[in-house]
Amino acid sequence: LKRACVIDWDVHHGNGTQEGFYADPDVLTVSMHMDHGAWGPSHTQTGGADEAGTGAGRGANLNVPLPCGRGDAAYARAFDEIVAPAVRAFAPELIVIACGQDANQFDPNGRQLVTMAGFRALGERARALADDLTGGKLVLVQEGGYAVSYAALCLNATLEGVLGTGETIADPIGFMPEATDDLDAVIARIKDARAAALAG
Ligand SMILES: [Zn+2]
Repeated sequence: LKRACVIDWDVHHGNGTQEGFYADPDVLTVSMHMDHGAWGPSHTQTGGADEAGTGAGRGANLNVPLPCGRGDAAYARAFDEIVAPAVRAFAPELIVIACGQDANQFDPNGRQLVTMAGFRALGERARALADDLTGGKLVLVQEGGYAVSYAALCLNATLEGVLGTGETIADPIGFMPEATDDLDAVIARIKDARAAALAG
């Protein structure tokens, strides 16, 4: 195994994974997260789209910082329009999902609005990439999730997507509407920042 990809959809930036592989051209590290920026000495990375890797690893780090209050639509579009094309271009032999549920609507440590349907859609997308690129080699690693009433339901929904079962448990509580009127601008801004980083 020579080429692996980590896709981290935990609501926080995957700064440790980024740091570990920042100069490594053989591991594509992807983080979709709330645009929370850096904090303190333990998290000096910003998670910005301009952090794209260094040296031989330039381009092999992809950050997708989504503004607060984003949910199913933003995550699906960002995955389809930014994450999936990068993963396909990288052609990994293994995909690892850093599988947090703290982007859900009720998480006390996040400000995103992903519902069970959104997590199911992410699971479906991860599975499709693995089927197309890695012969189905897909590993899910549990990460954050602090809303005890809803995180387990979101994990179940993620697994429904990965396993292709369809909905097995109806969402009992998800309802908050997300802002979608400026999604074109949000996606374009992230793409532009990354393109500028790679061109500079
Ligand atoms: Zn987290």
